[in-house]
Amino acid sequence: MKKHNFYAGPSILPQETIKATADAVLNFAGTGLSLLEISHRSKEFDAVNVEAQQLFKELLEIPEGYEVVFLGGGASLQFCMAPFNFLNKKAAYLKTGVWAKKAQKEATLFGEVIEVASSEDKTFCYIPKNFEALVPADVDYFHITTNNTIYGTELHKDPDVKVPLIADMSSDIFSRRIDVSKYNLIYGGAQKNLAPAGLTFAIVKVDALGKVDRKIPTMLDYKTHIDAASMFNTPPCTSVFAALQTLKWLKAQGGVAEMERRKVVKADKLYSEIERNKLFKPTVIDPADRSYMNICWIMNDEYKELEKEFLEFATAQGMIGIKGHRSVGGFRASTYNALPEESVDALVATMKEFEAKH
Ligand SMILES: *Cc1c(COP(=O)(O)O)cnc(C)c1O
Repeated sequence: MKKHNFYAGPSILPQETIKATADAVLNFAGTGLSLLEISHRSKEFDAVNVEAQQLFKELLEIPEGYEVVFLGGGASLQFCMAPFNFLNKKAAYLKTGVWAKKAQKEATLFGEVIEVASSEDKTFCYIPKNFEALVPADVDYFHITTNNTIYGTELHKDPDVKVPLIADMSSDIFSRRIDVSKYNLIYGGAQKNLAPAGLTFAIVKVDALGKVDRKIPTMLDYKTHIDAASMFNTPPCTSVFAALQTLKWLKAQGGVAEMERRKVVKADKLYSEIERNKLFKPTVIDPADRSYMNICWIMNDEYKELEKEFLEFATAQGMIGIKGHRSVGGFRASTYNALPEESVDALVATMKEFEAKH
């Protein structure tokens, strides 16, 4: 039976990425060696690294003055690397989820942190209103988490504030066009919408570096990685190769604008069914706050006892990874770029079928 992959991360990748990576594991770029055993300094891998960074810039229309770097440590290491490099005295944070909260906690090690607004009072099921007006004008940056993977909320546009932005875009990068010029830094783990685990990306405004008074350890300094074109230390070669395949796929599909179109189609179908189906209800009430990438729902009050049964029923129909995060319960379907519309249709059909049984 066909499996539909709704995992939140690591998560679905284009079939093209998986096939090309599998081929390269056997014979990389005609070298007769495996991608798993080649030197990162070989000219063949160097070409992959360079092309991946170049395509990253092209697809996101990254302006002059920014560099893309590939790092290790996950988005979680960026929670400290961002303030290490950009927080001199004071920074503002928007607390819209557990990842946002973790980022904010790390920043307190480096300076004063202003919590602009929080949605923790309601298990992060909404985006605070009018937060832009609350951002102080004298902070070094304003940190946001554009998509809250666990709770299914999302900021659908770049905030309008007078200070530079820093964003964790782990779970919605390449799903919408962004005005990169508003940001000093955009970072994320690649394992949600781009590549297998092990790769972290950062888009850095080069001019904005070097403005903090503290000393920065070599490996935690963005400048180190920019100067070395992400080859200061050994990169996760396999993940970088796979990322390049996803970027090529993205371009062939019509780029970020096309992903933007598809994600709305997919998410609208699923949210409509959640609202229509008598068994279910969404956890994020305001449609303006709803994520296009991670769609969360729970059983309606009268049908609470059917939660386990639905999960088993859906899993038996090939719906993989729809169990909600333990802090929210219920269900979560991740509809990342690589998820075909057909998988959403299959999930909707499963929900209808389960409703008919009850
Ligand atoms: C998954 C996720 C993280 C954590 O990423 P790691 O690479 O595991 O450190 C951080 N932020 C967001 C928004 C995420 O979705």
